[in-house]
Amino acid sequence: MRRVSERLARLPGSVTMAISGRARQLTAEGRQVISFGAGEPDFPTPEHITAAAARAAHDPANHHYTSNAGLPPVREAVAEYTRRFSGVEVDASEVVITNGAKQAVFQTFAALVDPGDEVLMPSPYWVTYPAGIELFGGVPVPIETGVDAGFKVTADDLEAARTPKTKLLVFVSPSNPTGAVYTADEARAIGEWAMENDVWVMADEIYQRLVYFTDVAPSIAGVTPRMENFVLVNGVAKSYAMTGWRVGWMVGPKDVIDAAERHQSHATSNVANIAQCAALAALTGSQETVDEMRRAFDSRRKLMFSLTSEIPGVTVSEPEGAFYLYPDVSEAIAGRFDSSASLASALLEEAYVAVVPGESFGTPGYIRLSYATGEDEIRAGMERIAGFLAR
Ligand code: PMP
Repeated sequence: MRRVSERLARLPGSVTMAISGRARQLTAEGRQVISFGAGEPDFPTPEHITAAAARAAHDPANHHYTSNAGLPPVREAVAEYTRRFSGVEVDASEVVITNGAKQAVFQTFAALVDPGDEVLMPSPYWVTYPAGIELFGGVPVPIETGVDAGFKVTADDLEAARTPKTKLLVFVSPSNPTGAVYTADEARAIGEWAMENDVWVMADEIYQRLVYFTDVAPSIAGVTPRMENFVLVNGVAKSYAMTGWRVGWMVGPKDVIDAAERHQSHATSNVANIAQCAALAALTGSQETVDEMRRAFDSRRKLMFSLTSEIPGVTVSEPEGAFYLYPDVSEAIAGRFDSSASLASALLEEAYVAVVPGESFGTPGYIRLSYATGEDEIRAGMERIAGFLAR
């Protein structure tokens, strides 16, 4: 009898997490590793949020199981937040609080995908989407974009890929790994196509406030009037420097949310109450720190973009959101490395710079650079990359 189930034997680990792990290991061995790998802010969580968590830890009400779908004030706060930043009217009963946006992504697939259902996924795509889709028996269908299209799909691209089995579209703006942001018109055209063709949309809005040319990225559900078949995925990780707290959520029609809640009641129960109280302070407290961090990311974005643009053989488009650059390195590595994966591995082992290869986003020939790190590190790391490629 096989030891590991067929389903999990096929499941690849997260490459991003693996690279972070190896970078930590090299650091522990005394190497001065610069990490452009992981997608997380380097700032500590703001003080008013950690203070709320400390208070919550002393309240015995938080020492026990609570409602699987989340603490009522937190669900309320998320409903209000969704109205404010996504422009969608939702009730607290249409919200479930999850262990990070990752669990929201998985539960959306669990709630919507049946074996054989096709899920459209603009490519490059975040590694976790195909993993989750396949785990529930779905078929990920990558839709190619590319630098010339600004890494965005159109309704025509989606229509060309639609079949009677198309159930769901994964829509992420700003995008991980490209930083592309859809305008309201572009998002609406896709939302209308989805409505006309009865395709569900999972909109991953985790980076919605990390945009550098507007205040907030347009939400596909917010800009498409009467859209019903949508699930919004979001969380506190990126905007509030709270990746370690593990609080996210999904918002959607009541039947889907109830299904997700039933799944969660068996899988993980409630999210840690203390982390939920911290998230409540984040959502309802001063938003000043979000803007401060955004300003810092913006100047890092400009710095890294200009340094990357100067490297011979590297083509990069200017990202408008999130905290990633997604340069095409195919010319720079031609004849030297057989893939961007071997480049990434050599960069880490020989130049001690962690980057994520494009293979993990379905597009070999690219690397993802995260600029959620200090400007001195960006300067030093880019110098190492440029020096390495010039060798
Ligand atoms: N969606 C996207 C597009 C992400 O990049 C990430 C984090 N890398 C997540 C969701 C998950 O966020 P969380 O830490 O809240 O699970």
